Amino acid sequence: MTTEVRPRRGAKATMVLPAETAAARTPEPEPAPRPSKSFEKRPFLLDFFPLETADQTRLHPFYDRLRAGRLSTTRCPRDGELLWPPRTACPKCHLEELEWVDLPETGHVYAFSAVLAGAPLGMEGEMPFAVGLVDLDGAPLRLFGRIEGRPWTELRIGQPVRAESYDIGDGRVFYRFRTVG
Ligand SMILES: [Zn+2]
Repeated sequence: MTTEVRPRRGAKATMVLPAETAAARTPEPEPAPRPSKSFEKRPFLLDFFPLETADQTRLHPFYDRLRAGRLSTTRCPRDGELLWPPRTACPKCHLEELEWVDLPETGHVYAFSAVLAGAPLGMEGEMPFAVGLVDLDGAPLRLFGRIEGRPWTELRIGQPVRAESYDIGDGRVFYRFRTVG
C-alpha cells in the first residue's frame, strides 16, 4: 500500500511510505477538485501578486489600466484625497463610488534596499534585485516597488525613476520602477 503526497510544485514527486505506516493512518477524505494550472504553479498563500480579474477583485480597473500602461489609483470625490493603494471604499467617509485617476509616471527614490535571499516564489532566479520607496513627482504618494535598470549597488537616494507595467507571465501584470538618466 502506498500513500501519495501531493507535491508543492511540479507533478513528479511521489513519496512512498512503508505499508504499516500508511495502513495505520486514518483514511483521508476525498481531495478537493484540483485548482487551475496557474494556481498550482503559485500556491495562493505564497503568491506575491494579487488576483486581478473582475470576478476576483473590485480593484480590477487598476490592473486593466496598468495593462494599458497607466499607473492609477482611486480618489474620493467627496474628500478629494488620493488613496494609495487603490481602495474599494473611502476610509474616511466610506463612500464606495470612488473615481480612478492616473498617477504621474515619474518619481525619485526615497529609500531602497536589496533582496539578496529569501525572494518571493518565482523570483528566486532574479536575485539580487532592488526594492524601494518612490516619491511620485507632483503627487503626495510614496509607492513601494521593484526598481530595475541598474544594479542595486549603483542606486542612490534621489535616483529618478519611471513607473512601468510588466507582464508577470501568467496573464497578470504589475508595476515596477526603472531608473532613468
Ligand atoms: Zn471620502
